[in-house]
Amino acid sequence: MKITDHLSQAKDTLFSLEILPPLKGKSIQSIYDGIDPLMEFNPPFINVTYHREEYIYKERERGLLEKIAIRKRPGTVGICAAIMNKYHVDAVPHLICGGFSREETENALIDLQFLGIDNVLALRGDSIKTESTFRPHLDGHEYAVDLIHQVKGMNDGNYIMDDIQLEPTDFCIGTAGYPEKHFEAMNLTTDLLYLKAKVDAGAEYIVTQMFFDNKKYFDFVAACRAAGIMVPIIPGLKPIKSLTHISFLPKFFHIDYPEDLSKELLKCKDNKTVEQVGIEWGIAQSKELYAAKVPCIHYYTMSNSYSVHSIAKEIF
Ligand code: FAD
Repeated sequence: MKITDHLSQAKDTLFSLEILPPLKGKSIQSIYDGIDPLMEFNPPFINVTYHREEYIYKERERGLLEKIAIRKRPGTVGICAAIMNKYHVDAVPHLICGGFSREETENALIDLQFLGIDNVLALRGDSIKTESTFRPHLDGHEYAVDLIHQVKGMNDGNYIMDDIQLEPTDFCIGTAGYPEKHFEAMNLTTDLLYLKAKVDAGAEYIVTQMFFDNKKYFDFVAACRAAGIMVPIIPGLKPIKSLTHISFLPKFFHIDYPEDLSKELLKCKDNKTVEQVGIEWGIAQSKELYAAKVPCIHYYTMSNSYSVHSIAKEIF
């Protein structure tokens, strides 16, 4: 079922979650162990992130370096199929531009269609660690909007291989939005122009980057509406869990902590107290969002179902 149908048929705010594929070599049981405790909140869909290749250099004879491509978290498509099979909920694979040619994207979408997957979250992806800026595949897409055009094109029956009669796909397309603006954007106004282009190209709903200040989400929704972006905007929340997160999350995701939260975090001396602050903050944020009747609250579990469970049991 399409995410847009889940949202339009819901009587109350929905609960959904996002998981990461396990590190290569780990079993799928680690995924089930993370999802099982959260099933009591009836998520109608579960997102699965996509992780592109990274490059490492191995020293060979005579000081030569060999560049090797590795993928630490493969398996997005297989995990989506396993989730649908085990839990009978919709799985939403993330689809990225980085590292994919247009033909590879087309083939990946055909695989998803064969598996009965109705939804994709279309993203650009970040640059790989060894590149300072995002570089698309030579025959790939530079921006998420280009990827959305391709998926929408297939929904309209347009494939790269156009010399035979092909059946249209029917994917519901989601896209990413940034209440604190995307870090590469000149300002929020240009970011919203490009977000609107993604919606005009065929994105039917938006999932936001994590934020810790609900005002930023409410302001973002108001700015989107003023810019003519009328699709549902699902807030994404991430519970802070460890001392490492305190600096990692703002650095990696380009978000700020509100002062009240940073004051609490400064008092924390160990992971356990950070986790507790993260849970309490998550409950307060979720309560306010729920009261505001947002369509769904989407939790970035990042292998941390304990905090998400502690928050969700107070809300759903
Ligand atoms: P875009 O929409 O293409 O925007 C990228 C930048 O380019 C923005 O600054 C935008 O303003 C600008 N821009 C957009 N269109 C144009 C244009 N036509 N001309 C000029 N500038 C333009 N990453 C992963 O690798 N895997 C994942 O699974 C993943 N999941 C995510 C889930 C969510 C909900 C979110 C919010 C992010 C996720 N990301 C993931 C991270 C995402 O890939 C990065 O934030 C990436 O840097 C931008 O992706 P985007 O789809 O927002 O890009």
